[in-house]
Amino acid sequence: MTNLIDGKGIAAELRAKCAERVSNLILNGIVPKLAVIIVGDDPASHQYVNSRAADCKAVGMDSTVYELPSDTTQSELISLLEQINVDPKIHGILLQMPLPIHMNPDEVVVHISRDKDVDGLHPINIGMLGSGKPSFAPCTPSSIMQLIKSTGVPIRGKNAVVVGRSNVVGKPAAMLLLQENATVTICHSKTVDLKEHTMQADILVAAVGVPGLITGDMIKPGAIVIDAGINRVDGKTVGDVDFESAKEVAGAITPVPGGVGPVTRTILLMHTLDAAERINAGN
Ligand code: NDP
Repeated sequence: MTNLIDGKGIAAELRAKCAERVSNLILNGIVPKLAVIIVGDDPASHQYVNSRAADCKAVGMDSTVYELPSDTTQSELISLLEQINVDPKIHGILLQMPLPIHMNPDEVVVHISRDKDVDGLHPINIGMLGSGKPSFAPCTPSSIMQLIKSTGVPIRGKNAVVVGRSNVVGKPAAMLLLQENATVTICHSKTVDLKEHTMQADILVAAVGVPGLITGDMIKPGAIVIDAGINRVDGKTVGDVDFESAKEVAGAITPVPGGVGPVTRTILLMHTLDAAERINAGN
């Protein structure tokens, strides 16, 4: 029988641990704090960043949301980042993507202090991940790893197939799987026979943005299936995996919603606490 991987439950357990870590830091005179920056007026993004602030509050952390107008210049944004970088009261920085089209994200992210780069955007942090010494990995791939590990199935030696090669999800997820000694295949839109690859996967990660792309007949019986996709179809949120057919074949599977998303939000808190604890330890 398929095991449903309960992202909400896992997130709740991780948050309880976060609350303990916050208490310890506060005892040492440090109130962990996340800065969230959003540029522009996309309502969904604003809802997203405001819920990050609520997540912080729920575990006793502090946060500040910087809501910048869409005509903010790139140099104004960089000045703000540089100001936050040297603010000793702020330990983590989340820069909400995408930025407005008049900005070049590559030119902006290099101005996030790599010690506060809790979503792993800085090229040095990306390079550290590629070299097998991750400092901060992006939150969604870290969440994917947490969910795979929650099954208790060892990753070492398994065939892992990641569908999607974006810099924020697919590629870093593949790097993290490689670091755990999986044999990793990365598929993308130019992959010739996707099913041929997915059928080999003991661990299958979907990070595509195409609703229901992965169907049950593309899954190896007993595989762990992690669906990072978030797609709106007929007013509902669905993943990249066709859940109904996939659950008949998979050994374990994440639902959408309630799988990768809640754990990703919690990883952001965990990374901010990592940053605050490093400062507390004098590193
Ligand atoms: P991108 O659009 O940046 O990347 C999509 C990837 O999927 C690309 O590598 C693309 O290939 C590949 N792809 C597209 N179509 C196909 C296809 N038919 N077959 C195989 N591969 C295909 O998306 P993201 O990585 O940013 O996001 C992926 C999904 O994850 C989205 O649904 C997004 O909403 C969700 N997401 C979820 C998060 C969470 O916390 N749960 C956080 C971030 C994103 P190519 O490179 O060749 O174009």
